[in-house]
Amino acid sequence: MKDIILTGDRPTGNLHLGHYVGTVRNRVNIQNQGDYEKFYIMIADTQALTDNADRVDKVKNNIIQIAIDYISAGIDPSKVNIFIQSMVGELHEFTTYFLNLVTLARVQRNPTIKEEIKTRGFEKSLPMGFITYPISQASDILAFGTTIVPVGDDQLPMIEQAREIVEAFNRTYTPSEEVFAMPKPFLSEDKICRRLPGLDGKLKMSKSYGNAIYLCDNSDTVRQKVMSAYTDPDHIRVNDPGRVEGNMVFAYLDAFCKNEHFERYMPEYENLDELKQHYKKGGLGDVKIKKFLIEVLEELLTPIRQKRAECLEHVDDIYNMLFENSYTASLEAKKRLEKMKDAMGINYRKLLK
Ligand code: ATP
Ligand code: MG
Repeated sequence: MKDIILTGDRPTGNLHLGHYVGTVRNRVNIQNQGDYEKFYIMIADTQALTDNADRVDKVKNNIIQIAIDYISAGIDPSKVNIFIQSMVGELHEFTTYFLNLVTLARVQRNPTIKEEIKTRGFEKSLPMGFITYPISQASDILAFGTTIVPVGDDQLPMIEQAREIVEAFNRTYTPSEEVFAMPKPFLSEDKICRRLPGLDGKLKMSKSYGNAIYLCDNSDTVRQKVMSAYTDPDHIRVNDPGRVEGNMVFAYLDAFCKNEHFERYMPEYENLDELKQHYKKGGLGDVKIKKFLIEVLEELLTPIRQKRAECLEHVDDIYNMLFENSYTASLEAKKRLEKMKDAMGINYRKLLK
């Protein structure tokens, strides 16, 4: 059996560099290898509303933005089903039954949820929809028989939660044949790419934290953002020795820079190791390394911006593609929903002789 791939993003803003190295690049590679049974990318608008209930317009407007970002970054809608979560109503039904298989204490131990509650200021007033989103996310994954989920590090606890639900379901209802596959994460090889830090150097790069470089940022914005990136506050004069750990310019170079970039833009160095050694020793200024990073990022972002401009000419076609795909996804989810109800013994029509 070939793999079924599913992954997704919340339409809370455009895709950023963290998405790119954490999961989008892997999705494009898997898509181009073509060795899978089905490949879904879900725009998680229902999930986005769990912490944006009063910002419906923001979520709504970002659905098309995210779809355009995917296509601009190399996702081919003829090979991948990109759909809208809220248009697949079956997912809510899975969630209703899965909620009975998980305790509140278990979700409260989820480290990503803990961090998100803190950063969203939800300690005193926690929306029920938000605290239960890992269960709804498990439905998104399990409803399609997903075996592989390409994600960044922060999503590992969600996949673990989905796996626990499969185990609890099997324990509770002992289905005679498999209903849900056991999903596995697919992570980037490099650690830095699994959780790319934000420009502030504190939290992960995130749409919600205002610390991101977006795939759709223009050259001027990218330049300004890189120039403001957190480096080493003790590296005041060029000759001071500098720290590369915790320095965002080196974090992004680790994630994006290849040896050929040196040939093109900084031939006085062979590779990133040499550049780091010089910075650590002293004698290399922040402006120089920031300019180099800008070149590296521009090389990545220029073709993405061009593709984005083309997509903007075909917005209605992209919407139609999303609507059709959501319908197909809904039919697919329905099949497994029936299987689930059979296993639970709640398909009451089957009582008829
Ligand atoms: P939000 O702030 O609304 O949660 P986000 O920036 O965290 O937005 P998501 O839509 O939650 O983005 O994440 C989508 C996917 O991108 C997930 O697989 C997630 O692991 C991955 N991802 C998000 N941020 C990063 C990052 N900084 N580094 C690597 N992967 C990331
Ligand atoms: Mg997130």
